[in-house]
Amino acid sequence: MSKPGIAGFSTRAIHAGQPPDPATGAVTVPIYQTSTFAQEAVGKHRGYDYARTGNPTRAALEQCIAALEGGAHGLAFASGMAAEAAIMQLLKPGDHTVATDDLYGGTYRLFRRVLDPMGLTFAFIDGTDLRALERALMPATRMVWIESPTNPLLKLIDIEAVASMAHQHHALVVVDNTFMTPYFQRPLSLGADIVVHSATKYLGGHSDLIGGTVVLNDGELFERLAFIQNAVGGVPGPMDAWLVLRGLKTLAVRMREHDRNAREVASFLSDHERVRRVFYPGLPDHPQSELARRQMSGCGGMISFELTGGLEPARHVVERTQLFTLAESLGGVESLIELPALMTHASIPAETRQAHGVSDGLIRISVGLEDTADLISDLDRALAQA
Ligand SMILES: *Cc1c(COP(=O)(O)O)cnc(C)c1O
Repeated sequence: MSKPGIAGFSTRAIHAGQPPDPATGAVTVPIYQTSTFAQEAVGKHRGYDYARTGNPTRAALEQCIAALEGGAHGLAFASGMAAEAAIMQLLKPGDHTVATDDLYGGTYRLFRRVLDPMGLTFAFIDGTDLRALERALMPATRMVWIESPTNPLLKLIDIEAVASMAHQHHALVVVDNTFMTPYFQRPLSLGADIVVHSATKYLGGHSDLIGGTVVLNDGELFERLAFIQNAVGGVPGPMDAWLVLRGLKTLAVRMREHDRNAREVASFLSDHERVRRVFYPGLPDHPQSELARRQMSGCGGMISFELTGGLEPARHVVERTQLFTLAESLGGVESLIELPALMTHASIPAETRQAHGVSDGLIRISVGLEDTADLISDLDRALAQA
């Protein structure tokens, strides 16, 4: 079960890295709540010596997520941001990163407010424009960082095309696959070098933990990242690693349902008179539906939409839904609603946000697993009051 590709997705999700516990036969991987491990002689141990360096529960998660992304190596972190920070610590001052402009707000903040002052340099481009990428790639460029679909506008970036262009310039390609999960999109198979996740979202899937993962194929790069993981120390505790593992077991079932619910909600919204635009790659009029079919096997549960009338009606809607909870985050069983300009993307300066097309009245929803009819009537009621 350790070789990716030898079994179907759900079989790997349930079994990869998770044989019955050799000590007791426990069918579920135990939560190894320990900081250290007894040594039989100095330096002689059973693969674990100190739990920042390695913990069996975390190791099971690392193997499982690697198997799901179709990669050779996995690493788990305390949060998506800790995973991203570890990847960026592969770089040194003067190194240049090209990132897409429609990024997760926290990623933008990490790059601009933490790493830029430390001497890393960045260019932000429209990732759907390959000529902009070509212009942004410089001799000092070491990394190209993309999200597809983008957040919050659900634009798609052609991962294969970006990877081939970046590789001509010897830059590593990192894909934040949080929105799609490996169930719908496997960036490594499209040429990416590193896949990063906020496991807080769909991988965990139940809004009950914070976590991050990294998957990659290159052995040398993996050794450097494992060194950083241990040296810097942003590791998850065993309980959180276990919760992500439990979430992964139902990832396929949940993603199919998120996708089915979101398609119906997106189609309801696009027919609604108060709604000006709907951003969802699964709608037949999404400008990149051909690319969607090529690089994704589904479109997931994230939808953004704009109302006629701007910020005030949008604020009314997000404060009036009853099933859709007003909250940041996404990817859980419960549906959430938010205003990116004032919430998830507030750390991006207003002019930058607007220049990228994120209007103040844009609403983002994470479509959960409640009954479709209930979700639609909740939105319908809130829209009628706006
Ligand atoms: C939430 C999120 C992150 C950050 O992850 P945390 O687990 O909150 O640290 C990174 N990228 C995307 C796309 C996210 O949605």
